[in-house]
Amino acid sequence: MKRRDLILIALPITLLVAVLAVVILLVAQYRGFKASYIADAKDDLRLRTELIAETLVPDIRQGNLERITANCARFRLHPTRVSVIREDGTVLADSNANVATLGNHSDRPELAEVGEDDGDGFVVRYSVTTASWLLIHAVKIGDCYVRVSMPMNAITHTVSLVRRSVTLAILLGAALVLFLTFYVIFRVRPHFIALQTAATSIAKGRLDTPIEIPAGGILRELAQAVSIMARQLRHRIADLQRERNEFDALFNALREPLLVVSQSGEVLRRNRAAGLLFTVDDAHETFRVERTACPDLIKYVHEAFESPTVGSREIAFETAAQTRTLLAHAVRMEREGEICLLLLLTDLTEIRRLEGFRSDFIANVSHEIRTPLTAILSTVETLRENHLTEAQYARCLDILGRHSKRLGDLVQDILSLAAIERRQTGPAGEDFVPCRLDAVLRDAVGLCVDAAERANVKLEVPETLPEVTVNGDPRLIEQCVVNLVTNAIRHAGTPDVVLGLGVREGKASITVTDHGCGIAAEHLPRLFERFYRVHKERSRATGGTGLGLAIVKHVAILHGGTIDVVSEPGQGTTFTLTVPAC
Ligand code: ATP
Ligand code: MG
Repeated sequence: MKRRDLILIALPITLLVAVLAVVILLVAQYRGFKASYIADAKDDLRLRTELIAETLVPDIRQGNLERITANCARFRLHPTRVSVIREDGTVLADSNANVATLGNHSDRPELAEVGEDDGDGFVVRYSVTTASWLLIHAVKIGDCYVRVSMPMNAITHTVSLVRRSVTLAILLGAALVLFLTFYVIFRVRPHFIALQTAATSIAKGRLDTPIEIPAGGILRELAQAVSIMARQLRHRIADLQRERNEFDALFNALREPLLVVSQSGEVLRRNRAAGLLFTVDDAHETFRVERTACPDLIKYVHEAFESPTVGSREIAFETAAQTRTLLAHAVRMEREGEICLLLLLTDLTEIRRLEGFRSDFIANVSHEIRTPLTAILSTVETLRENHLTEAQYARCLDILGRHSKRLGDLVQDILSLAAIERRQTGPAGEDFVPCRLDAVLRDAVGLCVDAAERANVKLEVPETLPEVTVNGDPRLIEQCVVNLVTNAIRHAGTPDVVLGLGVREGKASITVTDHGCGIAAEHLPRLFERFYRVHKERSRATGGTGLGLAIVKHVAILHGGTIDVVSEPGQGTTFTLTVPAC
């Protein structure tokens, strides 16, 4: 039997025990009463026997049967019965019965009790003759027994009373136990089991387990309470879950790495950005701060635990690709009774790179301006001298013209680059129009013809170009082609420049190939940086600003395309500008 069933039937069992206890108590009380009643009755009977015996002694000694019978007959209407029995069991006289009808009494226990020693005998027995319980006392006088008996009516009455009470108690108790057992088994137990199963299921986390509410009975309120409790728990957990999800989303949406570090150096929580920074893939994996292999960070965490007033600090973090600059900011917090650190790491690498980039750019621009400006200033000084010949004067004007143009070109290129970069940050392709690349290519070639002729370079364009349309800014694409062709004429020392146009897998490509000096491999990664020159002197001498290829790269990006270069020193170079075709 299951434990819960034992609990359920405990009530009927208790009741059964209580009923049994009452029965035992009644029986014990009855026995006590019977013993004391018999003791009192014995005393009384002994007194009666003595008085009666005194009366009968002379008659018995004289053997006067007539007087014996007469004396016995005096008790005819009295509850006390008197018998005189001869030693051999023959009844000589009896107050209540006709001696002729009475058999031999030698087997009566009360006579045996008197025994041979002429004592007396007490017996309590049921008399068939009188149909009642009798207390019998016998004494021996001479060769006769005088037997006096009286009915034990009080005892008989008590016995029947007790018997009735016990029977009633047993019947009532049994009925109650039976009723309770059936009630428990068929009414309470199913609800109890259902409630227990539901509560166990809820305890295991299945909060939506339905709870059956009994229509009535002692379990109704309990089932209602459990149901309300489960509902409140469900709402509370849903609230907590929602808050947790929101917090997790917020935590992970932060672009800055965020960590919770325990005093023992364990990283207890971290957001996605922190996982990426420290290359920990498993979202639930905990790790020690030492695993970051960043001595600056380990030291900072240590100090932040030592001193609550520690401020933010810039730390260097070495990764396989680069050295990152992080701004660490620690806030002390309590977590499950333990002091922890909330560590925010702001990545300053890009800001520092841009700062370096800006100062490099300013330095480059200043440097680019200084050369023509110095030339212009010194030429102006020369012009101030009055004794210049016509030829010297003309040369000075030429120098002023060339360097002013160079300054103008520089300003123009910087402005172009800034304009393209501005458009890159805005909505992509907002002002783009469909344009035919074959037409753009021919226009660009037209613009370079004079420069090519002056440099004795042959420009080769295929007779038939495919009709390719792209979405873009035709002026910028034309500027790119002009830059690439001008570079080939200026820097490559090539006899010819071959242009091409093709479409492949939805992408249109313009190629500009020369057969000139080529570009050494070590220059290729930086070729598209601003002011980067391979042939510094030649570029400056030919009036280049060093911004042409940077402009080409940004125009390609603006159009969602790419610019690639393949070069073989001494063999030539091919630039390929690729943009998505319509
Ligand atoms: P700008 O084009 O702004 O007038 P630039 O031509 O010097 O000046 P870029 O077009 O950016 O600057 O070119 C960068 C450098 O790359 C050049 O200075 C040159 O040294 C090298 N270069 C470019 N094109 C070629 C080429 N086809 N062959 C060899 N070197 C080249
Ligand atoms: Mg150029």
